[in-house]
Amino acid sequence: MGLRWCLRRGLPGWALALAVTTACAVAQPDSGSGKTASPETRPAVAGIQVIRTEHGPNSAQALKAHYVVLVSLDGFRWDYAKKYGATHLLAIGKQGVWAPEGMYPSYPSLTFPNHYAIATGLYPEHNGLVANSFLDLQREAEGKPDKYGIGDAKAVTDGSWYSGVPLWSLAEKQGMRAACLFWPGSEAEIAGERPSEYLKFDDKVDETARIAQVIAWLKEPESSRPHLITLYYSDVDHAGHEFGPDAAETKAAVGKVDGLVGKLHTALKATKLPVDLVVVSDHGMVKIEGKWITLDAFADLADFETAGALLYGKSEEDSSRVYNKLKHVSEKFEVYRRKDVPAGLHYNENAREGDPVIVATGPYAIRAHGPAEGKPDSVPVGQHGFDPHKMPEMKASFFAMGPDIVVGRTVAPFENVNLYPWIAHMLGLEAAKSDGSLNILAGTLRDNGDSAGTNKE
Ligand SMILES: [Zn+2]
Repeated sequence: MGLRWCLRRGLPGWALALAVTTACAVAQPDSGSGKTASPETRPAVAGIQVIRTEHGPNSAQALKAHYVVLVSLDGFRWDYAKKYGATHLLAIGKQGVWAPEGMYPSYPSLTFPNHYAIATGLYPEHNGLVANSFLDLQREAEGKPDKYGIGDAKAVTDGSWYSGVPLWSLAEKQGMRAACLFWPGSEAEIAGERPSEYLKFDDKVDETARIAQVIAWLKEPESSRPHLITLYYSDVDHAGHEFGPDAAETKAAVGKVDGLVGKLHTALKATKLPVDLVVVSDHGMVKIEGKWITLDAFADLADFETAGALLYGKSEEDSSRVYNKLKHVSEKFEVYRRKDVPAGLHYNENAREGDPVIVATGPYAIRAHGPAEGKPDSVPVGQHGFDPHKMPEMKASFFAMGPDIVVGRTVAPFENVNLYPWIAHMLGLEAAKSDGSLNILAGTLRDNGDSAGTNKE
């Protein structure tokens, strides 16, 4: 069984240099938390193995709240819907709100950092996931595992890597049940909570069955019915990496996931429940130019630990030496001492970012080291991870409609951290402190963002 989130490894900067598919154990009860994995008692959707956490029923207040189904279409660039005629998504935007010029992912525009930024309202350097793969030398000093990687089941399920209060934990803390059909972070205990129901990530789970599971959750008795549900599709990202954003294969993947969203929308309507449907993506995609840029060709990195293009010097002297070496060697990247990374990137205060920090100046594939002899060394056709404010191809998508959302409004590009207080508001939850603000999207809400935390009719 393949465990593969939306990426090709070996990417400009932030992932490992080798394409690896990690074997994944068959889903089994999670023993990491004392309150996880009650036996299967409810009818299952074929091919779906739900892990259940003992959380008790929805509170009286939660019972009065609306429902939010949050869908991620990985790598669905901001302009794909129009470019490829995604009729269902465009219809949702027309019946609600959307961002015709896209939504800004957080830097780096990578999958895990951004899914978790959406879930927590925190920039990657505040939410802990500064890349898809990174090191934490402080943890090493404490005798804890020091490497996080999205293909490492142990790391992704270890809550100590994650900061903030993701939406599902926020809901559970406030007496509201949540269910995650895949979302980075949803398999770990974070802020003392897990979703009431979640799945172990397995991208082979049938895509239509995923919709059936969402509907099955919404058909549960009110007491156990989750009010926040996440859903995830990777197809568009895979096609974009392999064939590029302009390829027929990517167009076909857009058509496929748009069809799935259409099915979901129809099925949600049939429940007659007050469901806000929010469809987002984590980042866009750009065609890579040129070959790999390998940093160890310019500077001796023998004393450095590295992950992708992240560079971890063991001393101030090391960091300073490599910074000076790399400073003027290429126009294809900037190098900064971490404290000097431009403030707009929000990438200058977490040691997990390494020091110095490399920032690509265009669609270039950058890494610290090349692969071992004989290993494949191809550059992906499409890639992401770049500064979304300098490279519009990195912008993500946003569509939403439902009982809490105004009809027929568009929004200017906004940073994805603002989704967190907005979704919390729709659910009547009090959001934890975040980098986002409800003001940014308040105009999309029928109540203008007023009456935060009050009950819904
Ligand atoms: Zn992604």
